[in-house]
Amino acid sequence: MIVGVVGGGQLARMMIPAAIELGVEIRVLAEGEGMSASLAATAVGDYRDASVVLAFAEDVDVITFDHEHVPQEVLRALVDAGVAVHPGPDALRFAQDKRQMRARMAELGVPQPDWAPVDAVGDLERFLADHGGVGVVKTATGGYDGKGVRVVRSAAEASDWLDGAAAGGPRLLVEELVPFSRELAQLIARRPSGEAVVWPLVQTVQEQGICVEVLAPAPHAASIQPVVDDVARAVAEGIGVTGVLAIEMFETTDGRVLINELAMRPHNSGHWTIDGAVTSQFEQHLRAVLDLPLGSTALLAPTSVMVNVIGGPDSGSMTDRYASALAAHPDVKVHSYAKSARPGRKVGHVTAVGDELDEVAYRARAAAAQFDA
Ligand code: ADP
Repeated sequence: MIVGVVGGGQLARMMIPAAIELGVEIRVLAEGEGMSASLAATAVGDYRDASVVLAFAEDVDVITFDHEHVPQEVLRALVDAGVAVHPGPDALRFAQDKRQMRARMAELGVPQPDWAPVDAVGDLERFLADHGGVGVVKTATGGYDGKGVRVVRSAAEASDWLDGAAAGGPRLLVEELVPFSRELAQLIARRPSGEAVVWPLVQTVQEQGICVEVLAPAPHAASIQPVVDDVARAVAEGIGVTGVLAIEMFETTDGRVLINELAMRPHNSGHWTIDGAVTSQFEQHLRAVLDLPLGSTALLAPTSVMVNVIGGPDSGSMTDRYASALAAHPDVKVHSYAKSARPGRKVGHVTAVGDELDEVAYRARAAAAQFDA
C-alpha cells in the first residue's frame, strides 16, 4: 500500500513514523527542498499544477494532504483520472471556503454562530445593525492563524476587504462576535466505508490567533461531550469527509457549543494523541484514507497537555539548546519539526502525560519554554 501526501509540512512529517509502524509506504510531494517532511519527499513541485500532482499520483493507492490548499480543479482532475482522493473535493471545499462551510452547517442544523454572506456593504451594515453594532468579518478563503479575521464596529472598518472582494479577491462573510469562555476542538476520523471514531473533546488555547496549548481531555467537559460527539458525527457524515476531521468550537458563557471552523487533516489540536492515545491522529488518518479498520482512541493516561514551541524574535532553531533542554525535561515527549524558527512559526511541540492536570500542564509549559527558539 502506498499513500501519497501532498504537502511537506510537519503534518506530513508526523505521518511518516505512523506509516513505518503500519508498514505502509509513504511518499510526499513537497513544495520545496528541505521541508519538514523531506525525509519522505519523493517529489518536489507545485501542488497547484494539475500535471505535477497527476504525475505524483501515478502509482499511489491514495492521495491525501498535509494542508487544504490544493485547488478544486486539481482535485477534480485527480478524481477524473481515477485516483482515490481522501478527503475528496466535495468534502474539502468546506475546509477551503468558510461561506460554503457555514451554509452546509446550516443545512445540517448543527449549532454555529449567526452569520451572513457579505457581497456588498449593505449586507454588512444590516448584519451589524441586527447584532448590536459589532461583527466578525472573515475572508471566505485563504485565512489561517487568524489572518483573514477582523472584529468590526462599522462597515468602513472592512472597506479594504470589501474593495478587494469587489475586485475579484476573497469573498467575505460576517459572524456574530461570540462571547466565548473557551475554545474546544473535537477530532473525528471517518473511513470511506463510513466507520467513524472520536477522541475526547480537548480545550485549545490561542494567543494572537495561534494555538499555543491543548488540554486533553478538556477539563469540565463531561456533560457536553455526548452532545459534541453527536455534532461531530453529523458533520463528518454530512460533508462526507474521509480521514481526520478537526472541528474547532467555541463554548459560550451560557453553555452552548458553536462550530467555528473545520480542518480536514490531522490538526494541531490532536498532536497530543501521539503520546496520549492508543492510536494517534496520524496513524488514524492513514488507516482511514486507506479504508482500513480504525484504531482505539482510548487514552494512555488520564491527562495529556501539548504545548507548541513557537519561534520568537531571535530566530534560531528548536535544537539550539537541545542537550540542556532535554536534560532538564526527561519526562516530556519532544517533537521537533526540523524547521528554522521565524517569529510566530510552529517549530515543534512537547507533550506531557500524567494523572493530574495542573502538574502535567506545569511540566509541559516548563519544557516548551526551554525549547523556545
Ligand atoms: P483562521 O481560519 O485564521 O484560523 P478562525 O475563523 O479560526 O480563523 O478565527 C481565528 C480566531 O478568531 C478564533 O480562534 C477565535 O479566537 C476568533 N474568532 C473567530 N470567529 C469568531 C467569532 N465569530 N466570535 C468570536 N471570536 C471569533
